[in-house]
Amino acid sequence: MSTSPNVPTTELPLPSDAGDWHRSLADAVRDPDQLVNLLALPEKYRDPARAAAELFPLLVTRSFLARIERGNPRDPLLLQVLPLADEMAKSPGDVNDALAEAESHLAPGLLQKYAGRALMIATGACAVHCRYCFRRHYPYGEEPRRLEEWEPAFEAIASDASLREILLSGGDPLMLTDQRLARLIARLDGISHLRRLRIHSRLPIVLPDRITLEFIHLLKECRLTPIMVVHANHPREIAADCAEALRTLVDSGITVLNQAVLLRGVNDSVEVLAGLCERLVNLGVIPYYLHQLDRVAGTAHFEVPEVEGAVLIEELRCRLPGYAVPQYVREVPSAAYKTPLA
Ligand SMILES: *Cc1c(COP(=O)(O)O)cnc(C)c1O
Ligand code: SF4
Repeated sequence: MSTSPNVPTTELPLPSDAGDWHRSLADAVRDPDQLVNLLALPEKYRDPARAAAELFPLLVTRSFLARIERGNPRDPLLLQVLPLADEMAKSPGDVNDALAEAESHLAPGLLQKYAGRALMIATGACAVHCRYCFRRHYPYGEEPRRLEEWEPAFEAIASDASLREILLSGGDPLMLTDQRLARLIARLDGISHLRRLRIHSRLPIVLPDRITLEFIHLLKECRLTPIMVVHANHPREIAADCAEALRTLVDSGITVLNQAVLLRGVNDSVEVLAGLCERLVNLGVIPYYLHQLDRVAGTAHFEVPEVEGAVLIEELRCRLPGYAVPQYVREVPSAAYKTPLA
């Protein structure tokens, strides 16, 4: 990393250069045995972790691992990434495409469910595999990979003047290099009826060095108004390098929102949720959504009943300013918006 002598020392902490995040990603933990050893977990977790990782591979960055307490199998950050025997359980009502996404394709890699905005599956890849992920069964292999393969999606967007906003999602769109993102964004920038670009990413939380200066410049130079939606579920996720990355985004003038998923054993208490929301707003990040878990096979052990979620939201309203309380929503197939539950 080079530091220009012209940069005043009062400036923002400089995000690390692009090479760093590729190295961090390569260094992520993918082997269940290694996870059990590094975190000194009880031996009884080893075999189930191996078995459940066969269904949906283990993946966790070193940065996220560093925020997990060693020797504690109930750590709320660990529970989000540790493959458990519970994932092999079948429960009634489970489906593999809980959101009926297969029916809302405008073009390959482009989904529209709501007025004025459409979502691009920019890539299937993530830097962390969240065990509760509703996309754990998603057929990512079918989505386009090269820019040319996106042409039908760009054409569909260009031919629908009611679209104002494109969401880049996945997987995690920040898994693309800055060069690829730049080409994708430039193409969207050229579609004159678009006004906003929204990027849904968990990388500022799990791989904070992904927030490169080049990425920030990309958003700042774009004609479209940028909005970042990050994804943290517990206040302890927002520590050290992650807090710095969020601060960098906010200080660059980018609107940053957070979405969380209500998860049993992770954030199903008012203390934890209030702590999360406080930590976010202290950094200038607005809690946007608290999602009711989507029913997909292998995630039932994370489910919190809606009535319990509604009580938690009521308690949050008693403690926090209105802007710090997220909307508690669930996704209802073919509804015109994410449906409020409280
Ligand atoms: C969740 C989602 C959105 C975003 O909804 P907002 O309420 O605007 O945050 C857009 N498109 C699809 C397909 C979605 O699943
Ligand atoms: S980062 Fe998002 S898309 Fe990727 S595994 Fe986690 S919840 Fe799923």
